[in-house]
Amino acid sequence: MEQLKYHQLGHKICCIDTQYIRPGLASCYLIEQNGHAAFIDTGTNFTAPLLLELLKIKQIPPENVDFIIPTHIHLDHAGGAGKLMQLFPNAQLIIHPRGARHMIDPSRLQAGASAVYGESEFKKQYGDLIPIDEQRITEADDGFRIHFQGRELTFIDTPGHAKHHFCIVDKTSKGLFTGDTFGVAYPELTVNGQPFIFPPTSPIDFNPEDWLKSIDTLMATHSERAYLTHFGMVENLKPLADSLRQRIQIFTELAKQSPSKDALESNIKKYLIDEIKSTGCLLSEENLFKILALDIDLITQGLSVWLEKSTAK
Ligand SMILES: [Zn+2]
Repeated sequence: MEQLKYHQLGHKICCIDTQYIRPGLASCYLIEQNGHAAFIDTGTNFTAPLLLELLKIKQIPPENVDFIIPTHIHLDHAGGAGKLMQLFPNAQLIIHPRGARHMIDPSRLQAGASAVYGESEFKKQYGDLIPIDEQRITEADDGFRIHFQGRELTFIDTPGHAKHHFCIVDKTSKGLFTGDTFGVAYPELTVNGQPFIFPPTSPIDFNPEDWLKSIDTLMATHSERAYLTHFGMVENLKPLADSLRQRIQIFTELAKQSPSKDALESNIKKYLIDEIKSTGCLLSEENLFKILALDIDLITQGLSVWLEKSTAK
């Protein structure tokens, strides 16, 4: 079994490694309030035992888990939602209105992903997706608000990475739970306290205009920190927002200029590795590529889908 790895971030927020694919790739978050718990993002089915172990350490009974909140329905964020809803009998699932039907009936989600990864690889990575009773699902529109044991959480619609993506504003921590909308920043790539951040332009919803607006919306909340699913907390958001905006533009330019998908992939790879090296990062090119391989693949695929759609218009 995987080992539980977590760290406290202050404001009763805990970052947990979901152990998806490799350590340090994907996290989820526990918020504790008055002996109750809410989880933001879930990892996959295989993350569930880790979350149970953490609750035990914190002496929070499974009955006191009030909310399961995937930021969007991509499976590294929501793949374990059905399993957690089984384990936590009093929990309510909060999800973007565009994602709800796939939580009630995940068969299309599973079929789609199995087609991409192959059935056996899907099972290995995610297990079987578990349907969730409609009665236990709350759809959060833009501006929706809950009071979790007195703690106010506000949901904002943030398309661009995915149409079914919201972010959550937590007044208590002056923080944002951003899923994939505020980019990806792996801890290994942080140099002198400065994270290296980039937009995961994954298939099939990538939309640069929407995404740039979503970043503006996030910045307009005047939050002081963001809790990224990939991976951990970042602060001093302004320069990070600027880098994200710039890289969304650069990625779309590279997509337009590259004569083929293979060329695009090698251009994205070269761009990211050159940029990271210019920060003074001392990791070898080989190690950098290991860290980024999956993202480079998804970024390329997402840009290709976007380019096809935008040229078909
Ligand atoms: Zn995603």
